Amino acid sequence: MQIPTLPDRIDPWQLAAESGRLDGELKLAALPRLAALLEHADGAVSVALAAGIDEQGLRFVEGSLQTEVELICQRCLGPLRLSLKVAVSLALVRAEAEAARLPEQREPLLAAGADLAVADLVEDELLLALPQIPRHRDACECEAAGRYAPPSEPALDAGQPRAFAALASLLQDFKRNN
Ligand SMILES: [Zn+2]
Repeated sequence: MQIPTLPDRIDPWQLAAESGRLDGELKLAALPRLAALLEHADGAVSVALAAGIDEQGLRFVEGSLQTEVELICQRCLGPLRLSLKVAVSLALVRAEAEAARLPEQREPLLAAGADLAVADLVEDELLLALPQIPRHRDACECEAAGRYAPPSEPALDAGQPRAFAALASLLQDFKRNN
């Protein structure tokens, strides 16, 4: 099946008025702000978005983006492949001030004019969906990545065991003094 081509730029207001759709694929390499954060920028993102006007009269763009990215695990510094499925629910606004009036489930898409780069829209949504501190879900996966961080390095999530150790030594002091 042939992959539909995405336009480079759209008039989002017109797209909403026509209940248009954006379907297709974008190369991750064509999204420079995202690619800068990735270990490899090969691969593509599948775009499936629909525009329209909802019952509140809001011009919306909604649907989903799907891709797989490779990041660096911040615990073991090994590669971390992540499947991203991003639900998009945007309402077009002409000014920042309008954003405050949107219902909770819609995020503002600032489109002052009649020209919007589809890649920017997709890139912004993917950037928001990336984890702030990418990590394998558990330590076993870190070891499987083959480059487990040496124990001398403070691990990011060492806070809790250390708190318990501190508590244990406090208890010992307490016993000794009583
Ligand atoms: Zn890891």
